[in-house]
Amino acid sequence: MTATDPVSRRRTFAIISHPDAGKTTLTEKLLLFGGAIQLAGEVRAKANRRQTRSDWMGIERERGISVVTSVMTFEYGDCVFNLLDTPGHEDFSEDTYRTLTAVDSAVMVIDAAKGIEDRTRKLFEVCRLRDIPIVTFINKLDRETRDPFDLLDEIEKTLALDVAPMTWPIGRGRSFAGTYDIRASAVRPVEGEQVLRPVNGPDDPSIAELLPEHERAAFSEELALAVDGLKPFDKSSFLEGHLTPVYFGSALRTFGVKDLIDALAEFAPPPRGQESATRLVEAREPKMTGFVFKIQANMDPNHRDRIAFMRVCSGRLVRGMKAKIVRTGKPMALNAPQFFFAQERAIADEAYAGDVVGIPNHGTLRIGDTLTEGEDIVFRGVPSFAPEIMRRVKIGDAMKARKLLDALQQMAEEGVVQTFVPNDGSGAMVGVVGALQLDVLKERLQAEYGLPVSFEPSRFELCRWVSATDRQEMDKFIRAFPSSMATDLDGAPVFMAASAWALNYEQEKWPQITFSDIKDYQ
Ligand code: GDP
Repeated sequence: MTATDPVSRRRTFAIISHPDAGKTTLTEKLLLFGGAIQLAGEVRAKANRRQTRSDWMGIERERGISVVTSVMTFEYGDCVFNLLDTPGHEDFSEDTYRTLTAVDSAVMVIDAAKGIEDRTRKLFEVCRLRDIPIVTFINKLDRETRDPFDLLDEIEKTLALDVAPMTWPIGRGRSFAGTYDIRASAVRPVEGEQVLRPVNGPDDPSIAELLPEHERAAFSEELALAVDGLKPFDKSSFLEGHLTPVYFGSALRTFGVKDLIDALAEFAPPPRGQESATRLVEAREPKMTGFVFKIQANMDPNHRDRIAFMRVCSGRLVRGMKAKIVRTGKPMALNAPQFFFAQERAIADEAYAGDVVGIPNHGTLRIGDTLTEGEDIVFRGVPSFAPEIMRRVKIGDAMKARKLLDALQQMAEEGVVQTFVPNDGSGAMVGVVGALQLDVLKERLQAEYGLPVSFEPSRFELCRWVSATDRQEMDKFIRAFPSSMATDLDGAPVFMAASAWALNYEQEKWPQITFSDIKDYQ
């Protein structure tokens, strides 16, 4: 394979970070490098325009958070980058987890003054489950920061991840003057064109001269210690997810961004094979396969559509081809697959492994769906998590109960909420991971279906998917709990419990029943 074959060229990645660490700013700058946008600030400007047009996104505007997952494709050098955006707010963590099933690598952005924060750690754990290689970007070096050794030590200790600094900051805060490139033995100054200037190793006196006099001696010592004392970069260790190369920079000042994008091009893996329930599907297999990890409705009110985001896992997707939806066995013509760029979308005539295409549809596709050219395989790893908040949905007008159920079904298929229909015929329940999802649901039911709903606390606090190898035992269990059993979107049995204590109690009483808080999409 040459370096320019379509699969080798692709880099599909996400940025993981704690809110405010600089993800949006970095995204803008990456897109700027890729020529996808003319002016930094466009990502935000675009987001604002969209928000003002769309009702339910009013929530996002009011609270100043990003709720929408999307994908941005850009080219740089020989590579095609697919950057999958993840919602920053923790209430939307389900969406984020699913998005992380569709990437091959991730950039972890850390605020240099704060270090590893809560949300970064959680997202990192999700990446670790899949051994996703991580490139670290320590941001905001133009401000006062913590000691770089401290930061590296914290990454190593809290994430159990080896660190290999690739650059080292020359000064910080007001005296931030650039970085020393450890592998190239060169300096990239903040001022001017930021071009790498070769130097004579870390002892070269011209490096320290970039700093005010009183900082020079201490800095020279620090740099020597960093270059000699810390681990060198090891690519295979990185690809296995054991080691992270670390870059220092300032997204706001577009500094260190080129290092990062070059690192992705040079080290980040091209699309990897994807596990299906029956076999590993390699990216270079000739037949097209893919899975849907995200559904988004009304992305653009001008289009009034519902888009399923599919990661192509193998083969070549050609516009107009017929694909099989494995869940239903039905064919679907891919007549208008789309690519998304920073400012626009465009029809995709062809797409390859690693690409993410949007497929417009009216409810045919669901999260977790596998599309193939005929083979009956189902990709793993787009899980559902047991909700942490459960509510009963109330509607004043009883005549609208049926319409409500249909609407809830749609919302569940899009992954907005999970729905549970109790076996005893009482009103539908919804389950969410974060309370904000309930606000989005309420707004969308009103705006799109004309259904004014409210939520009532129910006596159930949590739920688990239940299964058993012995069919009779399962039936017995279901019969034993006529008013605590429900079915989910797919008709799978769910046990609802009033408290963790009650759940635990039944778990001990029914050893043959498996209670699960994660469900893989079928
Ligand atoms: P997000 O919440 O992670 O998307 O963070 P944003 O990109 O919106 O950045 C949060 C705040 O930090 C904004 O006010 C940015 O202007 C600021 N910021 C981002 N990167 C830098 C940086 O490198 N230096 C400084 N001083 N501020 C930054």
